[in-house]
Amino acid sequence: MILVSNIASNVQRIRDQIAAAAREAGRRPEEIALVAVSKHRTVAEIRAALAAGITDLGENRVQEAVPKFRELGPGVATWHLIGSLQTNKVRAALEFADLIHSLDRPSLLAELDRQARQQDRTVRTLVQVNVSGEASKHGLLPGQLPGFLEQVAGLGGTVQVEGLMTIAPEAPDPEAARPVFAGLRQLAAAAADRRLPHVAMRWLSMGMSGDYVAAIREGANLVRIGTAIFGPRTAGM
Ligand SMILES: *Cc1c(COP(=O)(O)O)cnc(C)c1O
Repeated sequence: MILVSNIASNVQRIRDQIAAAAREAGRRPEEIALVAVSKHRTVAEIRAALAAGITDLGENRVQEAVPKFRELGPGVATWHLIGSLQTNKVRAALEFADLIHSLDRPSLLAELDRQARQQDRTVRTLVQVNVSGEASKHGLLPGQLPGFLEQVAGLGGTVQVEGLMTIAPEAPDPEAARPVFAGLRQLAAAAADRRLPHVAMRWLSMGMSGDYVAAIREGANLVRIGTAIFGPRTAGM
């Protein structure tokens, strides 16, 4: 059952909380982009979110996203790929994703560059950083970031880096994630100082349902929220 009215009221509540957190941090609410994470959600649920004013959708699996993208049609939303991307799925990912948040290794960078050249286009990305260093998480380690950004710059513009993304460790207290979010902000500031071509630090993608207020306090301007908009995902998903 789809509780359309719940989705609309959830979106409104989250927007209010984003605005409050932004103002507390001395920032304007409009600076913060809300990505509705629609993984495991039906097209009907996505339509309800779009009707509630959502403009950005986040998906973590290419195979799941492409059919939804095709069904909804072009131009209804900006699509974000937020999950780990295998090199053999890059071509399919480029069909739907406007911004890839999960650029996390040289082999993926090489494949994005190859496909971009083949298709005579550029690819917009964020570099995923494993700030907490948890073995289970994807992402470059902080020490690998400077060299990786030099590789991006050396490609000449096929792959554009527009910022950084991280996932904080799950913790009952969202305040526990703040050092991780602060760490990403500092990495972005250091990267911006180097003024590399094709590397801009416009976006800090951090914060999910449980910790987006803490993330905004530490500088997030792109938050990825699923459960708090759509309700709990079905078990096993
Ligand atoms: C699923 C997911 C989210 C959203 O998680 P919620 O806790 O449901 O808000 C955000 N980012 C990534 C990378 C995800 O995979």
